Amino acid sequence: MHLQASMNLAQTLVAGNDRHTLAACFLGPYGENDALLERLVVEFLRDHVYWRRNFHPEDPPAIPTAAAQHPDYLAFEARMRRELHQLSAALKKSVPFHSPRYIGHMASDLLLPGLAAQMLTLPYNPNNVSEDAAPVTVDLEVQVGLQLARMLGYPHDPAQPACAFGHLTSGGTLANYQALRLALSLKAFPVALRAARVPDLELPPDDWSAFNLRADEAIGLLESWQRWLAAQSTTQRARWNGAVEAQRIEQRGLTDFFATHPDLRVPCVLAPATAHYSWSKGVKLLGLGRDQLLAVPTRGMRLDVDAFDAILEACARRREPVLLAVAVLGSTEYGTVDPIDGVLLARERSRARGLDFAVHVDAAWGGYLATLFRNADGSLRQRGEVTAEFARFPTPAVHAAIAALAGTDSVTIDPHKLGYLPYGAGAFVCRDHRAMALLAERADYVFHAQTPIDFLARYRSLGQFIPEGSKSGAAAAAVYVTHKVLPLHHAEFGRLPRATILSAEAFYARALGFAQEQAGRLHVLVPFAPDSNLVCLALNLQGNRSLVRANAFMRRLHDTLRADARQPLQTKEFFGSVTTLSRDLLGDDEAVRIFGALGLDAGGAGESLMILRHTLMNPYLLDRENGISYIDGYFEFLARCTAALAVEMRVAQQAPA
Ligand SMILES: *Cc1c(COP(=O)(O)O)cnc(C)c1O
Repeated sequence: MHLQASMNLAQTLVAGNDRHTLAACFLGPYGENDALLERLVVEFLRDHVYWRRNFHPEDPPAIPTAAAQHPDYLAFEARMRRELHQLSAALKKSVPFHSPRYIGHMASDLLLPGLAAQMLTLPYNPNNVSEDAAPVTVDLEVQVGLQLARMLGYPHDPAQPACAFGHLTSGGTLANYQALRLALSLKAFPVALRAARVPDLELPPDDWSAFNLRADEAIGLLESWQRWLAAQSTTQRARWNGAVEAQRIEQRGLTDFFATHPDLRVPCVLAPATAHYSWSKGVKLLGLGRDQLLAVPTRGMRLDVDAFDAILEACARRREPVLLAVAVLGSTEYGTVDPIDGVLLARERSRARGLDFAVHVDAAWGGYLATLFRNADGSLRQRGEVTAEFARFPTPAVHAAIAALAGTDSVTIDPHKLGYLPYGAGAFVCRDHRAMALLAERADYVFHAQTPIDFLARYRSLGQFIPEGSKSGAAAAAVYVTHKVLPLHHAEFGRLPRATILSAEAFYARALGFAQEQAGRLHVLVPFAPDSNLVCLALNLQGNRSLVRANAFMRRLHDTLRADARQPLQTKEFFGSVTTLSRDLLGDDEAVRIFGALGLDAGGAGESLMILRHTLMNPYLLDRENGISYIDGYFEFLARCTAALAVEMRVAQQAPA
């Protein structure tokens, strides 16, 4: 395997500087940093034991020192060892995410600072549901929210009233659900204030406009209400608070709420056709129903703003409220980036028609790419500064999308994806924390208004605000420490996404070369020029026009590329994944372009084509130390594999039935 000599000088210098830090970041494909991790684990395990002993050193050991010689003790230990050995043996069949031969799903090696912080914290077992159970790690979780807010360009100074707030979740799925919950709560609150006939407040004239207030106006109203309430006598306060609570959607439920507000309907959620299936789960969980999740057409797997505009116009005309619109930053299947700036402009146009909604960015995958666009002082980097490090990244559209993040309402980011941290660490961040008061299980905002408490103190009862209850404080510690060791800007954390984008560019270049080499044997197409570090590849044998046969070929190829517990791991040369291109999702023009380039018949409604999908997040795909490119190696493997499959399938076709 030979290293591609395709990088320009600037890229080489950047990559060179990054290399030395990256060397200490991971356990490594070969376990190169085993001694470092071992030292850390032993050091902090001992440290934990000292902590136990120093709590009340006068207490004698409760487990007798001779206990370890008792036969029952020894039998227990033996059983434990046996089971652990069995587990350890079974785990050898795990997917080798750490290897640069793994370019399948969204997983890779784990960052040492996070892994060590997680292991260090586990024996303390903090529960981030509240400060009572996690006096240290709850604060770390709130700090993580602020770190992420800064990366996104949200206000992140907790001394400011309109500061952002973020918290961790089990993953992107729950973070997306939290976005739905928050948007619905904020949208329905002004309607409840009207229904309760609160005096003295400047309320919207009708339910429709109350349900379509801008987020900042709705938050302003919430604040006025809190101030008004604080000024009432104790009995009046209890009475009015009860009256408003009784009208809230959280109290009444969807059916009753909408039955008593005939001008309103259950709102819909707009998400591009490429959106993750967690959105379907979310609308089901919230009780909106899947019928309310509308797929916005895409162009080149990026949300089509014209189509989005048309849907919004139709909604406004039919008086169908929209709860939230989703823009995807790094789609799960294609790595494509939606025009977040275009979505925000479309919302401006929609506001003029009286229809307003929250804009949420699902950046579960692509969120950490934002580090490439941030300076250490938090300012946004110009596109030219970023492009100097790459061949073509970022396109003007990608730069504009990232720059627009600051204007959105909330974002989902998965530290357990491009943050290289253990599961389950997802994150939800909202731009203005004040709306979070509406999610509290107890209506504690009443008390906050009387005695303003500081930002950290408020969120120490985290369980009030999150969808989960008990949750891992160790996960919060892992994310926090990682963001401290590698701050979220281009010169620090940015080293990681930089390596992945450079890998993706090398992969893309190699794919174009591969297409030429295979001419006459195999049609090879990268269906969408990559926006980020996910590159798809469509293949079809020369002379085949049938979609069914093309998919059969691809299924056979995928069999060689996927995890298979029945075979020894070592028989696998590379790991990849597949996805599908649906004829309907593509639309006519794109389908003609892609199917045509592959020599396939256009295909009918409901049909789809299987394609290879590569996640290029492993930082060691271009191994400069040994002059190895695993990307070149992968394409050599593809050439061998497809040639063998071509023969096999021709033989199969000619064989008598
Ligand atoms: C992975 C992903 C999700 C779901 O996140 P989980 O952490 O798997 O729950 C949601 N949206 C996008 C775009 C994703 O890539």
